[in-house]
Amino acid sequence: MTKTGKLIVLTGPSGVGKGTLLQQLLQACPDLYLAVSATTRSPREGEVDGKHYYFLTKDQFQTRIDQNQLLEWAEYAGNFYGTLRAPVMREITQGKKVILEIELVGARQIRDQVADAFQIFVSPPSVADLEARIRGRGQDSEEAIARRLDQAKVELAAADEFDFQLVNDDLDAAFQTLKSKVLSL
Ligand code: 5GP
Repeated sequence: MTKTGKLIVLTGPSGVGKGTLLQQLLQACPDLYLAVSATTRSPREGEVDGKHYYFLTKDQFQTRIDQNQLLEWAEYAGNFYGTLRAPVMREITQGKKVILEIELVGARQIRDQVADAFQIFVSPPSVADLEARIRGRGQDSEEAIARRLDQAKVELAAADEFDFQLVNDDLDAAFQTLKSKVLSL
């Protein structure tokens, strides 16, 4: 019998801690394959091309759209982000679980295209808590904080569309819940 793979989508507002949860999950589940996205945003310090993202120019990104190489893509905060179709499909065909860490618009496209994808939404305990976390990172201007919070409210309103909602109140507890869920898929 051939083992079929599974596509898992992890979405949630900026600052909710999904990156930390994802890193812990990848360590705990070595068979899980994290798809490397393409983006037109500039690399942040320490980010490596091909590892954190494929950093593309707008023209290069557009070519991938035109050639239907992207499984989904979206514009977020003035930059384009997208998932390359070929590596994801290769891993799924080989029976692997593949995880995408993407924003809401892309998650909706995946839902339309991959009927049995499993979609997880990570929520903060409250909007006030999210604001405190974004401020706590100390990376953003007041304007950027306001933009991220507006976007977060849009995303939080869509949480019910997802198969599974995870509240990141206590990081350890949220990680254990996430791990059990992913292992059960
Ligand atoms: P950042 O610039 O902070 O790395 O990512 C900004 C947002 O883009 C995050 O919400 C992240 O989940 C999302 N993102 C990253 N890669 C992709 C992708 O391939 N597709 C979509 N739709 N969103 C992505």
